[in-house]
Order: sequence, then structure tokens, then C-alpha cells
Amino acid sequence: MAEGSTREINYLRISVTDRCNLRCLYCMPKEGVSFLGHEDILRYEEILRIVAIAVRTGVLKARVTGGEPLARKGIVDFLRRLHEMNGLHDISLTTNGTLLEACAEPLRDAGLKRINISLDSLVAEKYHTITRGGNLDAVMRGIAAAERAGFSPVKINVVAIRGFNDDEILDFARLTLDHRFQVRFIEFMPIGNVSLAEGFTYYPNDEIKKKIETLRPLAAAPPNSLNTNGPARIYRMEGAAGEIGLISAMSHRFCDSCNRLRLTADGHLRTCLLSDDELDLKKVIRNGCSDGDLEAAIRGAISEKHRNTLSDRHEMARKNCARGMSAIGG
Ligand code: SAM
Ligand code: SF4
Repeated sequence: MAEGSTREINYLRISVTDRCNLRCLYCMPKEGVSFLGHEDILRYEEILRIVAIAVRTGVLKARVTGGEPLARKGIVDFLRRLHEMNGLHDISLTTNGTLLEACAEPLRDAGLKRINISLDSLVAEKYHTITRGGNLDAVMRGIAAAERAGFSPVKINVVAIRGFNDDEILDFARLTLDHRFQVRFIEFMPIGNVSLAEGFTYYPNDEIKKKIETLRPLAAAPPNSLNTNGPARIYRMEGAAGEIGLISAMSHRFCDSCNRLRLTADGHLRTCLLSDDELDLKKVIRNGCSDGDLEAAIRGAISEKHRNTLSDRHEMARKNCARGMSAIGG
């Protein structure tokens, strides 16, 4: 660990594609997105090599994301190989759920145990609007398939947007009464091309909590009760099977405790969601580096992360961030 810091940088988010079968209003423009070319995307072998070296530097947990990870060919086999890797203790996947029905079982058989499904509305028309064409039924079938396949917990990520889905907070919370879901409310972040989400504002988690408490008392859940981690504050409604998570990216800052690295689909290592200071690992590996060189490069980036705590630059960085969420992976 670098001098002066107490954080272990042990969590890697891996974006396997910048492409997506949806166009969420707050994440991607409708048209005119320039996607990475085939050659610019890391091959699975290259990702696995980077992850194996990242494990040597202390990475213990990985999350596979996108774009839409299930839209990339060969993803199930990639996850199998990731699970076969020594040293990774916890692997999870974030998906929009639209393609999940058919792959929930194969994913489980590949070793995956934890899954996050993004879902911003339980009303078909609103879901169609926010995703620019998504089919709510397909996601609900995906969630049911994940539950049947035995994923535990199934986490449902809801980006909370004032005036769009704040009227559905209790409906989302009710999902946890009978299901062992963890419904996680994430404050909308106007990141990257902010004009995409003009007029969207986040709905503060403290207000969400108050709203849910009108339904039933909410108590802090015991640590790791449904295998939780990261910046979420976790609660359980009285008598509920599942849990509520609150992720306050806007109203509470958690830069000082951030343990994350991000690998973009084009092989750039990003040590902060909001900072475009990236290390081009694709270039490093395609130049024929040794494992030792690769490890040194990753360790260098981690030391930089220890030196920079972005809390003070948070606002500015968020606005200037060149990559959108779909290109970073959330
Ligand atoms: N396509 C997958 C999905 O939607 O789950 C994985 C990639 S997506 C970029 C990862 C997560 O980032 C999703 O839960 C999405 O809702 C969230 N996200 C995207 N843009 C966001 C924003 N501006 N503020 C907060 N969360 C955002
Ligand atoms: Fe696609 Fe996920 Fe972005 Fe929506 S949030 S456009 S599903 S990458």
C-alpha cells in the first residue's frame, strides 16, 4: 500500500464493450455515437492477462460491465475463465437485463453468483422512454430467470431522477418485501455529456430513505447480510426478505474511501470515475511488455490514485469528464 494511505485498491470494474442495445437518456445519445472499432477493443485474452496482473497488485474483486456486457459475443465463456483465475474472490456482473433470460443459467454455470440489473422504472411506457425503446417485460423475465437460477443476491440498480421515477420509490421498495432482492437507489450523476440529461436532477438518498420509512420502519442491515460492499448504505424494511441500498454519489462523497480501478473496453486503466487521467494499458501490452512491466505500470497508476483524492475536484471533474458512463462502465 502506498505511504500515507489506508485504502486497499482491491476492486476492478471491467468494461468489456462500449456498445449497448439500449440508449438510456442519461447515458448515451440517440444517434451519432462513435463506437470503438474491433481492433480497439481489448480481446478477452488481453483482459484476462491484465486482470491476472492486477490480482498481483492486490485486486480481489471484479465487476464486469459495459456498455451492455451480455451483448458481447463470448461473454459467458469469458466469465468462466475469470472464475477460473486464482486470487479473485468476488466476481459480479452489471447488466441492463434485457438479454438475461436466456443467459441466466449459463452464467450461473460459468461460476457467476452475483448480478446487478439496472431498472429505472416499473412502468412499461416509462421504461421504454428512459431507455429509448427498451422492453420492460424482457427485463422482468431476466430478473425472474436470475432469481430462479439462484443468484444471490439479485441486486436491482435504480437511478433515481427527480420528476421521473421518484413516484415509484415505494413500488421499488415493495419488491424487497417478498424477494431477496437488494434494490439500490443510485443518485443520478450528470457526468460526461451533461446535455444528454438536461433537466434531470438527482433525487437525494436521504429523501428516498424518508419516503420508504413512510411505508415501514427501516433498520440498518447487518454488514454483508446480502453480500454487500462498496459505497452503498444498506437497510432492511421491517419484515422484508430483501434489502434497500442507498448510493449517494452526489449528496455524500466517498472519494476518500474509494477502492476502485476501472478498465475501459479500449484498455485504458482509469483510477477515478471522474478523471480522464488514464493509463493506456492496451498500448503497453500490444507493445509486447513483460508481465513485470505490466505490473509496474498498474502499480504506478495505483500509487497515483493514493496521491490524488478527488473530493475537492469532484464537481469540476464531473463536468469535464470526456467519457460518458457507457464508455466507462458506471
Ligand atoms: N448496460 C449495463 C447496465 O445498464 O447495467 C452496464 C453499464 S451501465 C453504464 C452501469 C450502470 O451505470 C447502470 O446501473 C446505469 O444505470 C448507471 N449509470 C449510467 N449513467 C449514469 C449516470 N449518469 N448517473 C448514475 N448512474 C448511471
Ligand atoms: Fe446501455 Fe447501461 Fe448506458 Fe443504459 S445505462 S445506455 S443500458 S450502458
